[in-house]
Amino acid sequence: MQTIAQWRQKLIKGEVSSLELVNEKISRIEKIDSFIHSYLYVNQDKARMAASKIDEARSAGEELPPLAGIPLAIKDNLCTQGIPTTCSSRMLESFVPPYESTVTERLWRAGGILIGKTNLDEFAMGSSTESSAFGATSNPWNISRVPGGSSGGSAAAVASKLCTASLGSDTGGSIRQPASFCGVVGLKPTYGRVSRWGLIAFASSLDQVGPFSNNVADAAELLQVIAGKDYKDSTSLDVPVPNYIENLATPISGMKVGLIKECFDQEGLDVDVKGSVLKAADSLQSLGAELVEISCPRFNDGIATYYVIAPSEASANLARYDGVKYGYRSEEVDDLASMTAVSRAKGFGSEVQRRILIGTYALSAGYVDAFYRKAQQVRTLIRRDFENAFKKVDILLTPTSPTTAFKSGANQDDPLAMYLSDLLTIPANLAGLPSISLPCGFDSSGLPIGLQLIANVLEEPRLLQIAHQYEQFAEIMKSAPNCEFTNP
Ligand code: GLN
Repeated sequence: MQTIAQWRQKLIKGEVSSLELVNEKISRIEKIDSFIHSYLYVNQDKARMAASKIDEARSAGEELPPLAGIPLAIKDNLCTQGIPTTCSSRMLESFVPPYESTVTERLWRAGGILIGKTNLDEFAMGSSTESSAFGATSNPWNISRVPGGSSGGSAAAVASKLCTASLGSDTGGSIRQPASFCGVVGLKPTYGRVSRWGLIAFASSLDQVGPFSNNVADAAELLQVIAGKDYKDSTSLDVPVPNYIENLATPISGMKVGLIKECFDQEGLDVDVKGSVLKAADSLQSLGAELVEISCPRFNDGIATYYVIAPSEASANLARYDGVKYGYRSEEVDDLASMTAVSRAKGFGSEVQRRILIGTYALSAGYVDAFYRKAQQVRTLIRRDFENAFKKVDILLTPTSPTTAFKSGANQDDPLAMYLSDLLTIPANLAGLPSISLPCGFDSSGLPIGLQLIANVLEEPRLLQIAHQYEQFAEIMKSAPNCEFTNP
């Protein structure tokens, strides 16, 4: 499988043109995306124009930027100027942003080419991409299964080679869980490492943008471009961006890897998942790392904490969709209050409405101390568990998700079962830590299993290094779904 670095060499040498790469992706989308539905919008004409420009620059002998000519897909909750950005919601069905998000602007400046916008759970709330107002995405390994969520479109597009790499967002696991379900690499950076400007807000203290790719080196390439201070996002960190690529090949012998005990004791943990992840830990040991059992006593409280904090922030963030400034407006009523109420009732799907209700309740006078403030206190305890763990080990290891990809529809009427899918990913968001999911095997029905690594704040270089070393050793990434779909 080709890496971005290898494509770059081929493009520079003229062995392939960017237009050829883009055309290949577009015809593959035309051929198979009706089975997967990873894209909501395909940027055909502009992508071809941008690719031709890169090819001309190359012919003219200009030096090419790092992502020149590489076809990329973007989750449809990142604003792209002049290109529809729907958040998979009726509310924003006709929204065409007048500005570009910082992360995508950086990708285009680095020569990347926008192939299209990918499907997600409405407003990034969900774990299966089934709550999209524009239809669900399927898992390319088995189209009767979900791709995970909320960034299911971005994960499925990378897995089925409908783009070279993509961006998603991760509030409680929405990059790592779909990466795990689709057998690709997904990285959630440290909170603040990447700008949130132009990312349509879900829960602002948790949201973070990150890459999906077919290998760890490509994730490092994308992070290199999107990371760094942005004066438009006051929570973006003003610390230098290290070189994420130079460290990848450094051996990991002597590193201490902590296995979080509470994760492996889970009742709902699938046996195949547990087996593969423990085998991956053994591989790290063969590479010279030392395995240490670690306890994070509050780890399993993450989910309850998250489902107070995230909906609370969502209820505040989504108050802006009032039918007035932009977004869906119901014309059926003639007084202002009913116009807002009806617009929100029709513009938002049921999961989004559920989150707004939970959040409004948790923040209401009389309950704010019992729910919201209590959740913030538990959040601090979870963070402290991690601080203590990182006094003893360099990195933490867990499964990414308790199960592999579940059947479409399986959890749709049971929000609590759906929420449990992020049990193991949420704590890293609550603590603001960088975390990656990478493929480590398959279950008995041939579905991919994901390994999660969590590092201390801003230790992406170490996270990527260990992930890359494991990837080289295990060679799991060489397998890909066959994508030969036929109509039933
Ligand atoms: N599945 C989680 C939720 O529904 C996480 C979503 C996310 O990370 N955007 O909230």
